[in-house]
Amino acid sequence: MIKSSNSSNNITTPDKLEEDHLNEHNLRPISFKDFVGQGKEIEKLKVYIEAANKRGESLDHVILYGPPGLGKTTLANIISKELDVNIKMTSGPILVRAGDLAGVLTNLDDRSALFIDEIHRINSVVEEYLYSAMEDYVIDIMLDQGPNARSVQLNLNPFTLIGATTKLGNLTSPMRDRFGVVIRLDFYNNKELSRIVQRSAELLDIEIDQKGCQQIASRSRGTPRIANRILKRTRDFADVKSDGTITESIVNEALNALGIDELGLDEMDINILKALIFNFNGGPVGLDSLGVVVSENPKTIEEVYEPFLIKE
Ligand code: ADP
Repeated sequence: MIKSSNSSNNITTPDKLEEDHLNEHNLRPISFKDFVGQGKEIEKLKVYIEAANKRGESLDHVILYGPPGLGKTTLANIISKELDVNIKMTSGPILVRAGDLAGVLTNLDDRSALFIDEIHRINSVVEEYLYSAMEDYVIDIMLDQGPNARSVQLNLNPFTLIGATTKLGNLTSPMRDRFGVVIRLDFYNNKELSRIVQRSAELLDIEIDQKGCQQIASRSRGTPRIANRILKRTRDFADVKSDGTITESIVNEALNALGIDELGLDEMDINILKALIFNFNGGPVGLDSLGVVVSENPKTIEEVYEPFLIKE
């Protein structure tokens, strides 16, 4: 889901903003070599890919899960590249009718990858169709209606479904069971984020010193998408307030102006914590009540703010 980037506190949302499209193509790592962090999971993935390549088979279906902005789409692209196959990208909410899915599936080449973002938001009718496609590489489609209605079975090329979700628990269990490879992406530590910032700065030709990288890393909520966004915004401050080099003090100045504190907490995080402490005496409190007090959508609190606040 892409959101507009009007308000300043939007800078800390891990969801994709319009501004993230700019340069995204350049910044996205295209091989495991460029992909920083997620050590164990990446090692696992490499073994599965190498085995599939050796056998000349399609890779087992992969589910990538974790909070937004941690690299699920990036990894899906890397997987297809390592398999040396094409990848088609779609998302759960777009696949409204079974026919939409059939159209995508019947056009897949042998061993190629199909990426379905937000796979937990796929509707139940489409999901049913996906089961036989994943399991036996066949789909049954209905032709005609009423008395002439009949079902025709279509064979598909073996393919790898790569699903991405922010919440594995929101997937139905028959769906979850059909993924042979389960990869969990976790928040990045400051050292990893610092490397990501440095790499992005080089690619975008931005001058930044070591401390500047570390400072951006420590305020990026463990999320590469936010780190890259902060890097781009602090560049503006560096251009206006100094000689264009991003230093620790420029990062501090920029982030203070944008309402992000030393821990990467923004106004909404603070409001949530204050509401929990002062309005609800430290909790527990229902998500909906909390949403009303801080004027935020309960789903956003659950998916965006809660994981990071719990981690901290
Ligand atoms: P998701 O699909 O999980 O929301 P993306 O794959 O779109 O996240 O990643 C967001 C951005 O963060 C990417 O464009 C990429 O530039 C950067 N990124 C994500 N993971 C990494 C990583 N491990 N190393 C370097 N950059 C990364």
